[in-house]
Amino acid sequence: MSDADGKTYDVVVLGGGSTGENVADAVVRGGLTAALVEAELVGGECSYWACMPSKALLRGGDVLAAARAVDGARQAVTGDQDVAATLARRDTFTHDWDDSPQVEWVRGAGIALLRGTGRLDGERSVVVTADDGSTTRLTARHAVAVCTGSQPVLPPVDGLADVDPWVPRDATSAKEPPGRLLVLGGGYVGCEMATAWSDLGARVTVLQRDEQLLDGAEPEAGEAVAAALRAAGVDVRLDAEVTAARREGTEVVLTTSDGEVRGDEVLVAVGRAARTGDAGLETVGLTPGEYLDVDDTLLVRGSDWLYGVGDVNGRAPLTHMGKYEARQAGAAIAARARGEQVRPDAWAPWAATADTAAVPSVVFTRPQVASVGLTRAGAEAAGLPHRAVTYPLGGVAGAALLADGYEGTAVAVVDTEREVLLGATFIGADVAELLHAATIAVVGRVPIARLWHAVPAYPTVSEIWLRLLEAWRDG
Ligand SMILES: Cc1cc2nc3c(=O)[nH]c(=O)nc-3n(C[C@H](O)[C@H](O)[C@H](O)COP(=O)(O)OP(=O)(O)OC[C@H]3O[C@@H](n4cnc5c(N)ncnc54)[C@H](O)[C@@H]3O)c2cc1C
Repeated sequence: MSDADGKTYDVVVLGGGSTGENVADAVVRGGLTAALVEAELVGGECSYWACMPSKALLRGGDVLAAARAVDGARQAVTGDQDVAATLARRDTFTHDWDDSPQVEWVRGAGIALLRGTGRLDGERSVVVTADDGSTTRLTARHAVAVCTGSQPVLPPVDGLADVDPWVPRDATSAKEPPGRLLVLGGGYVGCEMATAWSDLGARVTVLQRDEQLLDGAEPEAGEAVAAALRAAGVDVRLDAEVTAARREGTEVVLTTSDGEVRGDEVLVAVGRAARTGDAGLETVGLTPGEYLDVDDTLLVRGSDWLYGVGDVNGRAPLTHMGKYEARQAGAAIAARARGEQVRPDAWAPWAATADTAAVPSVVFTRPQVASVGLTRAGAEAAGLPHRAVTYPLGGVAGAALLADGYEGTAVAVVDTEREVLLGATFIGADVAELLHAATIAVVGRVPIARLWHAVPAYPTVSEIWLRLLEAWRDG
């Protein structure tokens, strides 16, 4: 369906991160043509500066900790991580910041790739400016999907911008550990990077403005991660407001409510904002810099052709959720192109209902924190009748076998009227793989009475499900 000059496509996708690639793929699979516009590396943040390198940096420490937690194996661990080898392994996961394998995949999927910065230029129109300054106008027959992601924000701390702070990209791509690393922000990025660089030899201080780490998670999660970081030698300061920053020679000095703290680098990980400042939103009546306000089919409200998918809409800024939204948006675009009625009804094949009902996430700290759906506070805020049950994971045979003295907690939040699971949080070593069972229970609204028939194998950590059901039954 593409025009002879190749400049008109059914769908134009702005931003070739994990979300944009998947929107393009979904619409091509739906029988449409697609152009993908990417300003940096195809694959985006996740592949080169976020999920992949951060998890690669954490893995070595996890493996050593797992071995050290098992008598018999512990005796075999006689050294520390080989820092250079860990960094080299990280580099293999980022393909040394070379996107040619992803480019090959895009081309193989039948997607036209344009390198350059794309800007909306009125309805259904995108102008791409290449590095050499040349421009190409793309016209979309059916839809433009903005998938430009998010970018870190710097808090308004006096002098912070002048100390050349690390943003998450610097923390995941550093070529050597800093001697002393100050981490501003105790969310998941701050906690994961504190864990990784502490494992790799840095002396780390975490400064968190709130009274707990991992704000928004169940309180047991922040408490467990703070305790573990402290046990690993990380200086975790809660309720710590940073008011000013300066460099003294090579040292960074932060003024906090608690006195001064000094380091060699400061990582700022206090949150993100939509990357829409330079996407031409003003040409279609929207405000640059803001998140795109979309309905459940990812269609920008008030438009019948503009979609906002992935981090750029701020709904559930995680890679797997962006890819999910991409599949749903792709289905919506293809169905509308066929002239079908597409309404954002809950759980429809083109609706991103899970964005609000069941977002799974894993924080890869030690302990890991794996959660889905509502926390106690979330259920409270939603006005849902609920009761939470908790159980210590160490009391499950599978966990006790996994690590000597295994410590962890499971929290299940149950709707007391409908008797279905609203949410679950698992805190402990290797709990990430427990999460999908909980996600299925939440999405499927599996009645608690039926969950008793989902028998976990013995002796696995999944037996926590039985213990939680018993705790629920026994009130
Ligand atoms: C340190 C860190 C660790 C993380 N770890 C995890 C994790 O373990 N699991 C997880 O699920 N999530 C994780 N995330 C979040 C995850 O990285 C994001 O949710 C995900 O990358 C968002 O994908 P996206 O495609 O929406 O945006 P992006 O990946 O940011 O892609 C947007 C793309 O658009 C391009 N672009 C922007 N503007 C333009 C323009 N005008 N023209 C052309 N191209 C443009 C950019 O160059 C970029 O490639 C992490 C984030 C960070 C910071």
